[in-house]
Amino acid sequence: MSNVVNEQGSLSINSENIFPIIKKWLYSDHDIFFRELISNGCDAITKMKKLEMMGEVSLPDDNEWKVTVKVSPEEKTISIIDNGIGMTADEVKQYINQIAFSGAQAFVEQYKDKTNEDCIIGHFGLGFYSAFMVAHKVTIDTKSYKDEPAVHWESEEGVEFEMGEGTRTERGTEITLYLNEDSYEFSNEYRAKEVIEKYCSFMPTPIFFENVDAPAKEAPKAEDGKDGEEAEEKKPQPLNDPTPLWTKHPNECTEEEYKEFFRNVFHDYKEPLFWIHLNMDYPFNLKGILYFPKINTEYENLEGTIKLYSNQVFIADNIKEVIPEFLLLLKGVIDCPDLPLNVSRSALQNDGFVKKISDYITKKVADKLSGMCKVEREEYEKYWDDISPFIKFGCLKDDKFCEKMKDYMLFKNLEGKYLTLADYVKAAKEAAGETEDATIVENADGTSATGENGEDAEEKKQVVYYVTDERQQSQYINMFKEAGLDAIFLTHNIDQPYISKLEYDNKDIRFQRIDADLTETFKEEVTEDADDWKKMVDTVTDMVKKALNKEKLTVKVEKLKNEKVASMITLSEDSRRMQDMMKMYNMYGMDPSMFGGEGETLVLNANHPLVKFVFEHKKSKNASVICEQLYDLAMLSHKPLAPEEMTKFIERSNEIMLFLTK
Ligand code: ADP
Ligand code: MG
Repeated sequence: MSNVVNEQGSLSINSENIFPIIKKWLYSDHDIFFRELISNGCDAITKMKKLEMMGEVSLPDDNEWKVTVKVSPEEKTISIIDNGIGMTADEVKQYINQIAFSGAQAFVEQYKDKTNEDCIIGHFGLGFYSAFMVAHKVTIDTKSYKDEPAVHWESEEGVEFEMGEGTRTERGTEITLYLNEDSYEFSNEYRAKEVIEKYCSFMPTPIFFENVDAPAKEAPKAEDGKDGEEAEEKKPQPLNDPTPLWTKHPNECTEEEYKEFFRNVFHDYKEPLFWIHLNMDYPFNLKGILYFPKINTEYENLEGTIKLYSNQVFIADNIKEVIPEFLLLLKGVIDCPDLPLNVSRSALQNDGFVKKISDYITKKVADKLSGMCKVEREEYEKYWDDISPFIKFGCLKDDKFCEKMKDYMLFKNLEGKYLTLADYVKAAKEAAGETEDATIVENADGTSATGENGEDAEEKKQVVYYVTDERQQSQYINMFKEAGLDAIFLTHNIDQPYISKLEYDNKDIRFQRIDADLTETFKEEVTEDADDWKKMVDTVTDMVKKALNKEKLTVKVEKLKNEKVASMITLSEDSRRMQDMMKMYNMYGMDPSMFGGEGETLVLNANHPLVKFVFEHKKSKNASVICEQLYDLAMLSHKPLAPEEMTKFIERSNEIMLFLTK
């Protein structure tokens, strides 16, 4: 009558060696058994749905697909029940007793010699056996959709099994776990729900939850203010969303849905700036939504989360082998069932197919951004400050991305307008046509000569002036504005490495911070007799060095057009970059002169009455005080003073004011 013969057997010759290994290596997180068993239930339902679609079976009208998780904190058991395809006795033998073990065997083969912590991302056909990571005894009660008897199977420690005819009457499978003492927590309602939400939030079948020990709920008190709908209210809600937004066609999704999805998945209540919906069937299957979050660059690190799914089953966050590194700054979900996730991470890294997927994602992001810049320039500009650190990081990390984005990189200028580099260069060239001064020939030794049309035409680079700190560099900004020159703002940490890259890629441009040098534009021609001028320069230089007791200081005396400026500090671009680099690598305390001097130059304006006074009153003590004050003031508008310098400066300023009272 029954074709299920009572049977006993050893699961596999390897099983004694396998389980310690599986427990140790297969999944570092024991909670993953929930994912494996629930996804098996979903798979069983998907198979049944397919059979129905193909007309192989017909199902009653009231058939409702569902996976139910029941916990009993008192019994310390967990059951996972589905109404999917079920298994016949032969199938249990094949899929549970044998197949899983061939998977296990392959697993052991591959990993027996590995001692590193290279974790496995997907499954190895071992999903079911992950139950033994938390349970000492597991039972299966299953009935196939085929007209065959139910089967009961059980195993202690996954080493030996017993199987025979079962009592299940409905189609489907129930797996019951008798938990180990150290895993009792998983029968706790809240802990169980937490894990299920982590891994199963978007599995394709509704997942219901029951705590069999919880006191039966009384007739529901109207929740959510839905009085009078008690019957409705009683209907339990699934824990998951079986049709997450990424599975829909982008045309069918509303803006509000995208925002809501973002809030639900990332628990982030700041609205995303915009998003990219990936939807691709060929040559591989890839769906997902990438959000550009609003970042507060001053206080927050750029740090996103990309959740990776395979057929709506959560795999892990931020798998950098699949997702281009710079995209990890975004927030998003990616579902790619074609990924070979049952391999180690190091294998993923070298997989050509994975590289293709990663390239595709990068390309889509670049397409979206460049499209926006072309079609919705205003929107693009509005987001630019927020998204540019991310894009620049992408350019540094990925040459293809950089190439695609290069015409869509914007730079905010002194007027607050967004220009491309080409715009800036064009405007600078036009301005140079009038002033003849907007280009500098940068010689190999770092000295600069201006406006020469020498034979070193190759060395002639277009200088792009930039501001890193509007407040610190305001003196220079004002001078630039007055002279009709423009500069761009580059205020983020990422900008320094980014401009180095731009200079490397565009050999004819050179970035220079606005306070790096004084271009000829600001200077007046010296009309004095050459000897007189030299005497003046030497005298003033000498006095300043003495007054400051800084023999090595570089002092330049110039005639500046701007008469209000008495003194300024310039710091050559190369020296400053070197200093920035030392700061970045925390090389404080090293002597910067090792790397070519501090490079700061004090520029004194010979047109200013204070400088004239110094020259004309060589012997006066006041001239010396003025020299110190001029230096400190120039320093102050260049960078913050050191504490002891600040103290001296304030004392001296007070003395000068006292003098006014006399
Ligand atoms: P995988 O899911 O990767 O195939 P598993 O170890 O999770 O590996 O499961 C092994 C096999 O056991 C499945 O392929 C399936 O045929 C069968 N199986 C497991 N759970 C169920 C279930 N709930 N319903 C029907 N068949 C199942
Ligand atoms: Mg499975």
